[in-house]
Amino acid sequence: MAITDKIYLKNHRQIASQLETSIPKSAFSGATLDLLFQGENLAQLNETTQERVLDFATDFLDCDCQSNPHCGHPEEKFIRYLLELREQGLGPDAIVDVMGDDYMLYAYSGDILSFLDDSVRTLEAVESLADVDGNPEAAKQARTKRHQLSR
Ligand SMILES: [Zn+2]
Repeated sequence: MAITDKIYLKNHRQIASQLETSIPKSAFSGATLDLLFQGENLAQLNETTQERVLDFATDFLDCDCQSNPHCGHPEEKFIRYLLELREQGLGPDAIVDVMGDDYMLYAYSGDILSFLDDSVRTLEAVESLADVDGNPEAAKQARTKRHQLSR
């Protein structure tokens, strides 16, 4: 399961009651994206929630793909967001706090930790492959990235 399947709406129950419908807990589930970003639904949310939902839309759902928000870019962008927080030196608990403040989202810090470990391992694999391929530039990039994540 991708990390984006383990990102949840922090105020899930409140959102469901404001929308007067059931809504999945997972922020990146197709149904959640559809429900939250239909204009008429957005208007039913309280002001603070609306702001966070709009921030989320601006930061992650801003591509021009016809199939937006189901094109895969929101997930990719969110993963980049998590990695950037890590590069700023934040640990899993702090990352969970920040996503709560920024977008009213939450995740289990254990899931974030595994995701970060997996990312480092993926970069190690990229680095070895690039070395084998005789591509020192790519190997160096992967190594730099890995060091940024393992600080
Ligand atoms: Zn897209």
